[in-house]
Amino acid sequence: MDYTNDYNAYFVPTFSRAGSPIVKGKGSYLYDAAGTKYLDFGTGIAVNALGHAHPALVKACIEQVKKVIHTSNLYITPPHIELARLLVEHSFGTRVFLCNSGTEAVEGALKFARKYTSQKSPEKYHILSFFNGFHGRTYGAMTATAQEKFHKGFGPLPQGFHYAVFNDIKGTKEVLDQNDYAAIIVEPLQGEGGIHSATTEFLKFLRDYASEHDIVLIFDEIQCGMGRTGTLWNYEQYGIIPDVMTLAKPLGGGLPLGAVVCCERVSSAMSPGSHGSTFGGNPVACAMGCEVLSIVADAAFLQQITESGTLLVEKLKELAMRYLLIKEVRGAGLLVGVELTCEPKDVIAACRGNGLIVIGAGSNTIRFMPPLNVSAKEITAAVKLFEKSIQSIHIGG
Ligand SMILES: *Cc1c(COP(=O)(O)O)cnc(C)c1O
Repeated sequence: MDYTNDYNAYFVPTFSRAGSPIVKGKGSYLYDAAGTKYLDFGTGIAVNALGHAHPALVKACIEQVKKVIHTSNLYITPPHIELARLLVEHSFGTRVFLCNSGTEAVEGALKFARKYTSQKSPEKYHILSFFNGFHGRTYGAMTATAQEKFHKGFGPLPQGFHYAVFNDIKGTKEVLDQNDYAAIIVEPLQGEGGIHSATTEFLKFLRDYASEHDIVLIFDEIQCGMGRTGTLWNYEQYGIIPDVMTLAKPLGGGLPLGAVVCCERVSSAMSPGSHGSTFGGNPVACAMGCEVLSIVADAAFLQQITESGTLLVEKLKELAMRYLLIKEVRGAGLLVGVELTCEPKDVIAACRGNGLIVIGAGSNTIRFMPPLNVSAKEITAAVKLFEKSIQSIHIGG
């Protein structure tokens, strides 16, 4: 059966997809219907943090499905309370709001921030974000995503959003001084935008500015959080603590789950009925979330991520010395970007043809985001497949 024709026939054309459907995953590998095996260094865009079919996640999921699948937030369930407790115990936050995706976590964070500042200073409603950042596709999160291509044709956009250049302290201060802000939202490490880390000075400036003006500093750790960069949260590496942090992607172990982690000051602005979600905190997703968080928060596990990341970067840098196609290798932990001197599309396709899944970031970068428990052997194998793929591009012209 040709699924490609059906895909093209039945879906709103928001994605261009082809190739044999994926039918199975195990550890760091995916398998398609044609029987081809792929080393998965894309992990469903940093979602499958423990690889595929991790026994603890499968068990947690099946056990919870048998107990109760959904209750809504009209009732409480043990997994959703347990997950909130774990998130608070392992972060700066004192309270959490649970939702179903990254974009919803961002919407929640922006709403909480505006609610907070509206109490004392209603004129403080502006929101600052940074060029090349990514925060999601719903209206608030999309408008905070300072990339023209995501806005085109969807106006009018919500009001009060402003943008500044990432890591540019002077320019950011100018934009901040022009309006009364409720929030600053920033990715400590821009993922979709091409794997760019914030500087410590920049985040420190944002922290100081937010504290001085009593506005809300939001770190979007949807992609760079949950162990991805070698510490449980990326902000730990800077020693800078936000007021609110958004989480999603890997949090639910593959099921849709997002969270807004808040300090007490911001969460105290909210009251029953002021925000909500029918599915948010779904007990099956939360049961898996508890497993993911318990496994990843372990110090030895985190140490292993740093070591694996160092190995991956070393091997990619070796390639960079031999292939002009590679301009730069950068990143943190197991969120690694390889900037190319050409568009990454053909290289990504060549990789898939050779049994390696990687994904693009920004306009010229390939993202390597293997499972956090990837083995050294798998890293070596992936870099070999990547080399084979760039060789084929080289020779082909
Ligand atoms: C993916 C992503 C989002 C949006 O998450 P969705 O679950 O796709 O809505 C927001 N912020 C960052 C940093 C992301 O990487």
